Amino acid sequence: MEDSIDYLDGTVALVTGASSGIGAATARTLAAAGASVALAARRTDRLYVLEERIESDGGEALSIPTDVTDEAAIEEMVEKTTATFGRLDALVNSAGVMLLAPVARADPNDWRRMVGVNLLGTMNATRAALPALREGDGGHVVALSSDATKDPGASFGAYAATKAGVAAFSESLRAEVADDGVRVTLLEPGATDTELPEHVPDEETKADVEALVESMRTLESEDVAAAIRYALAQPPHVNVEELVVRPTDAG
Ligand code: NDP
Repeated sequence: MEDSIDYLDGTVALVTGASSGIGAATARTLAAAGASVALAARRTDRLYVLEERIESDGGEALSIPTDVTDEAAIEEMVEKTTATFGRLDALVNSAGVMLLAPVARADPNDWRRMVGVNLLGTMNATRAALPALREGDGGHVVALSSDATKDPGASFGAYAATKAGVAAFSESLRAEVADDGVRVTLLEPGATDTELPEHVPDEETKADVEALVESMRTLESEDVAAAIRYALAQPPHVNVEELVVRPTDAG
């Protein structure tokens, strides 16, 4: 059997949300497997630290400060990636925010932001990347949805709605691009130890989420990154369509 890492070696991956959590771990993991990685997010300082770390580990990385709610910046993000590395093989849409609150207390601006980053950010980055992905030997889009779409608890409704949108968009995209050899993987992680809950605006909901996280051994970002690497490292005829990765403790 061929070593699956061979399929990543020499490829080019663009990772949004690369400044922390799952995106940062994915960028490190893919770089260690031989991919050149473009790192996109807003916190430039974090991107440069990660870029340096990847390069000192012998990998190749490029920081591209990007706000995924800015359509022009997204186009530029893809252009800089292909101009620097000459191609684009994989887009990992990890940029996301989780601004939980019960509907009655929710701020519509937080809803707008979640739709803007989680759903439209993923859709626009995918649209911008598709021409380059189609040009290569078989492009790949990875979309971060969530296990929250399957059984959203109280206060998770708006967040889960954006992630259900990501799932529907990805399923439809797969049917559109399969003839071009482009694969689409929908990843639905469960609770993962990242900065994501830090931004929950509703104090009561934030306390509930923190208590839930403390009640179990959550996933680490590296666990989710390993699943993404698995999907990306398959031979071109194998499409890992959907991966649900949850903490064992979640039951
Ligand atoms: P983090 O908060 O650690 O990472 C979120 C990333 O999104 C950061 O790099 C942040 O960078 C980036 N981001 C936020 N807003 C924007 C924006 N406007 N433009 C560009 N980048 C942006 O959380 P996670 O790593 O956990 O989240 C990664 C993905 O995984 C998200 O889509 C999340 O919904 C999903 N997920 C997470 C789970 C978990 O339990 N942690 C479970 C299921 C899914 P910056 O602020 O620098 O822009």
